[in-house]
Amino acid sequence: MPSLAELFPGVRTDEPLSRHSQFGVGGPADWFFSAPTVESLAEVVAAATSMGIPVTPIGAGSNTLILDRGVRGLVVQLAHKEVNMTAEGLLVSAGTMMPRLALDAARQGFSGLSFGIGVPGSTGGSIRGNAGAFGSEIAGLLVQCEVLDTRGNSRTISAEECEFGYRDSRFKRDWIDLMIVSGTFTVGRSDPHVLQQEVKAIQQQRKASQPYGIRSLGSVFKNPEGDYAGRLLEAAGMKGMVLGGAQVSPVHANFIVNVRHARAADVLALLELGRERVSRQFGVTLEPEIVVMGEKD
Ligand SMILES: Cc1cc2nc3c(=O)[nH]c(=O)nc-3n(C[C@H](O)[C@H](O)[C@H](O)COP(=O)(O)OP(=O)(O)OC[C@H]3O[C@@H](n4cnc5c(N)ncnc54)[C@H](O)[C@@H]3O)c2cc1C
Repeated sequence: MPSLAELFPGVRTDEPLSRHSQFGVGGPADWFFSAPTVESLAEVVAAATSMGIPVTPIGAGSNTLILDRGVRGLVVQLAHKEVNMTAEGLLVSAGTMMPRLALDAARQGFSGLSFGIGVPGSTGGSIRGNAGAFGSEIAGLLVQCEVLDTRGNSRTISAEECEFGYRDSRFKRDWIDLMIVSGTFTVGRSDPHVLQQEVKAIQQQRKASQPYGIRSLGSVFKNPEGDYAGRLLEAAGMKGMVLGGAQVSPVHANFIVNVRHARAADVLALLELGRERVSRQFGVTLEPEIVVMGEKD
């Protein structure tokens, strides 16, 4: 039987996933496919499933710690980027980056999406995790999304069905096998100049309060009810701590940055230490916001 890479020339073998993680770490995927269209994605995913090969989606890799041994099976990414106004709302392909969406929406006078300038992920990954910033989140804007199952069949899911919560949705629980291929967002109309100023202001606030221009995974932990993970981690003495090539950011204690060829193991060790210290000192159990993907040591 021909292998997946022989059947589909676009499928790469032993692809280093560090190339697809914004943190810049991670071992190889057995197979990797960056799909130019939804149709090609459906075809490759269906073929992999019929061959018994597990399929894992990845977006922009901005929220994912890929383990040093990599990911077994096929890792897929939707490269297709498109934004169109439809009768239901703004239809955005899952591969579209949130900052690009924020900038384009502002330029065209569509309001509501400016927060996306601070979320360096894809629209698909952001729907799954109900990404949010500055008081706005995906849940407040999404009308519906289109998904593919592992057999390559598509269907439409309404926002209500997604059961969004704080950085949470059913895609993390009941629908781990579904791949989001697009989302439709409800947007308002506003002066493009005002919106562009709004985007700029959010970006500046980001630069002032978070590590900037260095590889990170975004917020490592979710904020616990009524408190901030960053405050607790700082109070527990984690700020600036270095393990191997990873460091708890000296700017914001809920960020881990890649200072010197970090390995996933360095990040996991820092994560565990922070969790353990906060639990011991404050009785609060921090829940990771980042996704840990791949084969464990
Ligand atoms: C500097 C920095 C700042 C950040 N600030 C914020 C912030 O303000 N607010 C916020 O919410 N987040 C923030 N993040 C985290 C991150 O950008 C978001 O969580 C983003 O939505 C993740 O999108 P992604 O495409 O990178 O997902 P990935 O990291 O690629 O994937 C995350 C998870 O989603 C799954 N997935 C990816 N694409 C799909 C798809 N199409 N269908 C189904 N599942 C999929 C993956 O399998 C994985 O489990 C920040 C990250 C960084 C590095």
